[in-house]
Amino acid sequence: MTPVRLDSSRVPAPILEILRRLGEAGHRAYVVGGAVRELLRGVPLQDWDVGTSATPDQVLGLYPDAIATGARFGTLTIPTQAGNCEVTTFRVESEYQDARHPGKVTFVRELEEDLKRRDFTVNAIAWDPLTGRLVDPTGGLADLDQGILRAVGEPRERFREDGLRPIRAARFAATLEFELEDRTAQALREARAEVGRVAAERVQDELMKMLRARQPSRGFEVLRHAGLLGVWLPELEACVAVPQNRYHAYDVYFHTLHTCDAAPSAKPAVRLAALFHDVGKPRTREEREGGEATFYNHQVVGATMTEEAMGRLRFGRDLTENVTHLVRQHMFDYRREWTDAAVRRFIRSVGVEHIADLFDLRIADNIGNGLKTGFPHYLEELRARVDAILEAQEALSIRDLAVDGKDVMRVLDLPPSPKVGEILNQLLEEVLENPQLNTRERLLERIRAGFSVDTRESGT
Ligand code: ATP
Ligand code: MG
Repeated sequence: MTPVRLDSSRVPAPILEILRRLGEAGHRAYVVGGAVRELLRGVPLQDWDVGTSATPDQVLGLYPDAIATGARFGTLTIPTQAGNCEVTTFRVESEYQDARHPGKVTFVRELEEDLKRRDFTVNAIAWDPLTGRLVDPTGGLADLDQGILRAVGEPRERFREDGLRPIRAARFAATLEFELEDRTAQALREARAEVGRVAAERVQDELMKMLRARQPSRGFEVLRHAGLLGVWLPELEACVAVPQNRYHAYDVYFHTLHTCDAAPSAKPAVRLAALFHDVGKPRTREEREGGEATFYNHQVVGATMTEEAMGRLRFGRDLTENVTHLVRQHMFDYRREWTDAAVRRFIRSVGVEHIADLFDLRIADNIGNGLKTGFPHYLEELRARVDAILEAQEALSIRDLAVDGKDVMRVLDLPPSPKVGEILNQLLEEVLENPQLNTRERLLERIRAGFSVDTRESGT
């Protein structure tokens, strides 16, 4: 890859303005880190990184509204029209206390020192678009050209300082599609203890970035080869070399990776669900005669394991519920003979808001089996039937009924009680069977006629 020539016209005005203002106040300031890397790759970027000789207090003097996102480490965030600009004072870390936090941060006036404490050579380039000066003390530009991910300095030491770096190595291997330099790869194998001591939130962050790569599998493979996969994802490691059956070309682990790659990169929930969708298989595997394996109920076991894994990685409740739900539902079956009522019940049990994601997961799962049987047409058909039902705005939940709990209580002279909910559920069942029933008049009549004496017996 030839790097796109760095050109100050590619730096938005608000970022240039920050560099200029720092310079006019007598400080040095450079575009650094991920921002330079992405500019060199010709990739559009969201966040900007600026390194400066100004102390955080001096930056705050110029930008009183800057947000202290990592003040202890000298990072302030200046929001701009062109995205956030993270301004970090040149620094070196020393006296590491544990693998997570530098014990002391010394602000140095030396740009090169700052670059040398960074993780990978491709992240250790600085560029001043105002003068055109490029500072690359670790050979990052050459590595970038050759697609090599190389730790800055002595890899083993760098990983010992911060156990997140090995995970970042896997993340960058995936997002940049780079190969690890040999000594860097070797050092990864000795970083197990440090990787285990990193804060879960930081791991989660890197994992999510990895999942946005074209092929997250590259990152997981780096972790597996380094013996690090099981540190944070033991349920994925347990899938390695677990054989399947005639529906699959791969073992459970490689099937999982192929599924994850095939899931839409813009949908993190689906990518996560793909990652976890079959983790229940190792525990539920049973061999039948002839060596064929079954994985009865693996989606239910897998959902529980997913919840546990996402808890370990401190994912938020909503995303965890979402992903767990997709894992639990991923084995749905469909047959042409299904009545429209059956399709409505399917939509209801999956939830309208999860249908598109579940289909995406199932398509990826199908690609991931490696048998190249082509697009599953039954899915196409089910999707068309679902769309037609959604378009017709037929009732799919109690909310959609033409009557509500108050109606039920009034007509039957009932106090608020679980019974009211039961009746509404029963009405919904009937409406799912026959959407024509969903008018106020007919449902009121149905309540009067069917539920006054005994709901159980008169229900269908
Ligand atoms: P992204 O494009 O995902 O933002 P990035 O390279 O900008 O990637 P950040 O986490 O934003 O990654 O960090 C910005 C820069 O800070 C990196 O490019 C790197 O130079 C440095 N850096 C970040 N984390 C570490 C770390 N754990 N150890 C050493 N240097 C780091
Ligand atoms: Mg960044």
